[in-house]
Amino acid sequence: MRVIAIDGPAGSGKSTVGRRLAERLGLTYLDTGAMYRAVAFAAIRQGIDPEESERVAALARAIDIVVDDRGVKVDDIDATVEIRGPEVTCAVSVVAANSEVRSELRARQRAWAIERGGGVIEGRDIGTVVFPDALLKVYLTASAEVRASRRAKEMTDLDYDDVAADIARRDAADSGRSDSPLATAGDAVTVDTSVMGIDEAVDELVEMVRLRVADTEGA
Ligand code: C5P
Repeated sequence: MRVIAIDGPAGSGKSTVGRRLAERLGLTYLDTGAMYRAVAFAAIRQGIDPEESERVAALARAIDIVVDDRGVKVDDIDATVEIRGPEVTCAVSVVAANSEVRSELRARQRAWAIERGGGVIEGRDIGTVVFPDALLKVYLTASAEVRASRRAKEMTDLDYDDVAADIARRDAADSGRSDSPLATAGDAVTVDTSVMGIDEAVDELVEMVRLRVADTEGA
């Protein structure tokens, strides 16, 4: 199984880099953040308070989540746009700190990769917890200013200060939670996309994967 794990904080360029890398390598791409967002979306829709951990965990086990290049479906309902909205973005950190939700989604992510023989998988705990044996682990980062201005450009209805505050809040929650916090795997390569542009980062990672594949096949 050939897994490329990409972790990093919000706005570091994970989705763009992950998608392009997958395309270049002929692998499928998975955005695991969309899966956590899908659980938050389902909870809000069913009127469940995200803090009600037992109910949210039961919901995570029960719902069908499809994340692919056409978008995100939750029990056959198109949630592509809504999962990026402020309501879901606000609730997702609490949902993601729920250990039972994490355990369910981790199992689904592993099954997804086994079915496809690997893939480019993006999130917060992919190299550290979900796929500790990944072929390549990347920790993607960028300065807080660059990350906030990238997100502010994507969310045209929000201003820079609101986006910067939201990113800071989510980063603190993701790095501070006890179950699989955002962290750099000891054997990850760190790529700073405020120093290196997105295109250059993709080129460099393609090369790294090629070298790793040659190494493993030659061994
Ligand atoms: O990647 P994105 O910003 O869409 O992720 C939304 C949230 O999902 C993150 O802020 C984090 O709380 C959670 N997440 C996680 N583990 C992952 C992917 C996302 O906890 N592997």
